[in-house]
This record gives sequence, C-alpha cells and structure tokens, in this order.
Amino acid sequence: MSFWESIKPARRAPVAVTVAVAADQRSLTLTWDDGHIATLSAQHLRQQCPCAECVEEFTGKRVLDPSRVADDMKILEVAPVGNYALTFVFGDAHRTGIFNWSTLRQLG
Ligand SMILES: [Zn+2]
Repeated sequence: MSFWESIKPARRAPVAVTVAVAADQRSLTLTWDDGHIATLSAQHLRQQCPCAECVEEFTGKRVLDPSRVADDMKILEVAPVGNYALTFVFGDAHRTGIFNWSTLRQLG
C-alpha cells in the first residue's frame, strides 16, 4: 500500500436514520442513510447480542445458546447510544447489548 493510500480516509460506514419497532414489538425496521431498509426480528437481534454476557470477550465465542431465545422475543425499549449504536431492552429483561451501526447493518 502506498503512503497516499494509507492516509486516505476510510469509507464512511452507513448510519441508520430511522429506527422503528413494530406494533407487536417482535421486529425492528431500520432505514439507512444510503437508502437500504432492513427489518430484523427481535429473536435474531437477541440471539446476536454482542455483550460480554453473550459472547466471551477474548475468544469471541458465543456463550448464549440461540435455541434458548424464544421465537416470540420482544423488543420492549430501544435507545440510542451516542450517535454510533443502539441498545435494546428485550422481553427477557436482557439489556446489556450495544449494537453499533456496522453490527446492525450486518444483521440486516
Ligand atoms: Zn447480551
């Protein structure tokens, strides 16, 4: 890589501009600033929770057994974390996961 390539700014990652929880609380629809729209189920989000309780910090191994996440999992609350992530309160009271934009984008 040349010097000039190495100092080029990285391509900006997409950011969600609207976040809407469905009326039944079982899914979340994100609209991204590049026009992409994705709906993620609460179950899938809960299964992919990136927090230290669900994923081993050093190995990256998922501790949470996805089959133990109910298929009628709900999102009770959603809140922004700064301008880089969202955090959720799930139907099983789990609330420690911080989902940054790139994680959310990969899920949807
Ligand atoms: Zn978690």
